Amino acid sequence: MKREFAVIGLGRFGGSICRELSAEGMDVLAIDIHEDKVNEFKNIAAHAVIADTTDENVLKELGIRNIDHVIVAIGDNIQASILTTLMLKELGINKITVKAQNDYHEKVLNKIGADQVVHPERDMGKRIAHSIISTNILDHLELSDDHSIVEVKAGEKMHGRTLLKLDIRAQFGCNVVAIKEANENGINVSPMADQILHREDILIVIGADKDISRFEKQLV
Ligand code: ADP
Repeated sequence: MKREFAVIGLGRFGGSICRELSAEGMDVLAIDIHEDKVNEFKNIAAHAVIADTTDENVLKELGIRNIDHVIVAIGDNIQASILTTLMLKELGINKITVKAQNDYHEKVLNKIGADQVVHPERDMGKRIAHSIISTNILDHLELSDDHSIVEVKAGEKMHGRTLLKLDIRAQFGCNVVAIKEANENGINVSPMADQILHREDILIVIGADKDISRFEKQLV
């Protein structure tokens, strides 16, 4: 069977990915330079090995070429993260996801061809900051540098009014793409303009950050 995933670096982030993928029934090769980390994952991942992935021969011996998607979750050692990514790229791995420690690291990873660069601490910090600013902003997902999707709770200003009346698209340039109605289980993914909103309904809104920000200030 072709192995699906390898996770390099079994710290908090890599470890969490490894646990989730394994719990979903995926075949995961878990790799760390430290024996204690590897032992921790012996009964969790399909395979767990001790290896220093900055050594090209070690990578080859692991048969990493046969793995479709490799996640590099090496923490503080930025040099090891970059070197590992570079070699995975040279070995022709189909998909490489790498955790970046800072913006400089992210820039280098993009330059050397990492397919996906994630920045979990920064992104989670941003999401939490948005929910701290307003208790009605439940979640915030960045789509690009200047576009996002936000999840907001309808308050008094929206209660009893329709999307048409609120005129969100024309007034703020944002689109309400879905509504989770209070007291309803489902989610309405094609809300009509004449739908009446109620306090506690949850709106999923997409738009440019500056437009979302105006929308939040005036209506949420
Ligand atoms: P986190 O912030 O996700 O907890 P850590 O820095 O604690 O990140 O974890 C990174 C992991 O990567 C550690 O368990 C470390 O042993 C491992 N690691 C570091 N360098 C290498 C390497 N060259 N090869 C394999 N694993 C490595």
